[in-house]
Amino acid sequence: MAYIDNYQVSVTPTFKQAKPARFCIEYHIATRRATTIMKHIQIKPSTSGPPLKNNDSVPASLPDAKETKLHPANAPSDSTNASLFFVGTATTILEWEGLRILTDPNFLHAGDHVHLGPGVSATRQTNPAIDLEELPRIDVILLSHYHEDHFDREVEEKLSRGLPIITTPHAHECLTSKGEDSFKNVHALDFWESAVLDVDATAGKTTGSGKKPNIKITGMPGKHVPPGPLSVANDLLGAVPPTNGWMIELGYSDSSSKGTDSFENGYRIYISGDTLMVDELKEIPERYKDQNIDLMLIHLGGTTIPGPKMPLLMVTMDAKQGVQLMQLINPDLTIPIHYDDYDVFLSPLDDFKKAVHEAGLDGKVVYLDRKDQYKFNVRQKQNAEATLQNLPSAT
Ligand SMILES: [Zn+2]
Repeated sequence: MAYIDNYQVSVTPTFKQAKPARFCIEYHIATRRATTIMKHIQIKPSTSGPPLKNNDSVPASLPDAKETKLHPANAPSDSTNASLFFVGTATTILEWEGLRILTDPNFLHAGDHVHLGPGVSATRQTNPAIDLEELPRIDVILLSHYHEDHFDREVEEKLSRGLPIITTPHAHECLTSKGEDSFKNVHALDFWESAVLDVDATAGKTTGSGKKPNIKITGMPGKHVPPGPLSVANDLLGAVPPTNGWMIELGYSDSSSKGTDSFENGYRIYISGDTLMVDELKEIPERYKDQNIDLMLIHLGGTTIPGPKMPLLMVTMDAKQGVQLMQLINPDLTIPIHYDDYDVFLSPLDDFKKAVHEAGLDGKVVYLDRKDQYKFNVRQKQNAEATLQNLPSAT
């Protein structure tokens, strides 16, 4: 057990990656590993330090949301116990059981520029719902890929080096090869690899039922560049980094058990990452055939490079592909993110709204503005003992 910047670092089994001695940009050509090691990452919210290096005045909570949205398929009443706050781009903050997960941190402002590859830059058109300095305590970051509209230079400079980050093998290499300034608590997950976050429930709310909260995170496939010769060229040039999607399963296991044997999913969230609609995604509904996907966060925007004046190559889904992905994954609910924040996002949200309407899927989408939150309910099965105790006595 070790502590880095107050973050408890304990990983079992230790991730054994042979670290290639080369710059991270060349990691593109490395073969993706296919191992099935299940990592366990201990998360103790009470010991998480400030999210930024030089900022000790950490707000206790997120600001009030501009608007709270619900979806009747999951939470018909006010029986919610989890929330998702939309900051902007693909940046969201998930709160559950006293734990906060931040996705793809991007806190630049309108007019700021990002570098997205050789000769490719983009200008931000929007402001984030909160500033980087307004971040409350963060327990884990999920980073889909190492691109500046998902992990900008200010974020990279200011984040605490001990903050746990779960990301792609490529981004792991980038974040841990900065010498003294390296991030020290980075965990790589390749496609279909999983990690379990063991949340110390005593630090947050307790469930009162002998169950402890667990979060299972699995890397999902994604392709940021269309397959074919361009993809081969990109592998060699290292222009557009490889990307993951994520499956986040919020659930509980018996507090007495070790491992995931007793894990019961209570809410399943699929995040697409910056992928195009490619054949590899078809494996997701196959692998989760009998397991309901409650929510999909879909990265849209129809990002087209090198730029709006020369729209040559689309590298994220547009409205049409977004609806195709809804039909493929068939989640109870979809929330679009990453749709209007940069000038290279050429497929506006209105196009997606129109395509959703034409496909008859209006009831399956909730739209969030920046600073809106979506509230939902993570189901928890009552254990048999508790159910028996609650039964009326037969007198
Ligand atoms: Zn992006």
